Amino acid sequence: MTTKTQTTIPRIALIAHDKKKDDMIALAAEYRAFLQGCTLSATGTTGGRLINELGLAVERKHSGPIGGDLQIGSLLVDGLIDCVIFLRDPMTPQPHEPDINALVRACDVHNIPCATNVSTARLVLSQLMGTTS
Ligand code: PGA
Repeated sequence: MTTKTQTTIPRIALIAHDKKKDDMIALAAEYRAFLQGCTLSATGTTGGRLINELGLAVERKHSGPIGGDLQIGSLLVDGLIDCVIFLRDPMTPQPHEPDINALVRACDVHNIPCATNVSTARLVLSQLMGTTS
């Protein structure tokens, strides 16, 4: 038996580095029906693809390298994000590494789930699906 404890609409932030964007689109397509009922925010390019390719309603922030990760972090610090799906590319140096670390740190400071790979993202999204009524 599934116990449903969460009744509010989940607020999910979606971010993917360039080489992970196709994975993000595939993941979001897999969970599209659920994500349509969530409040979504995303960094600029990731958000653009989610809107254009999947028709999801997404609040787009700036692109990550020019501050988008920090904008997501600001929402999170203000208590406006319940979960972050952040598909990072561990094989490519990023110019905004400090911003990436700041966002992941903010997740830990505020005890917000942060999925940094597809397997973890599936676990988190599946759990959210099961507890959202
Ligand atoms: P983008 O930003 O969605 O604008 O590409 C993501 C990132 O690089 O952090």
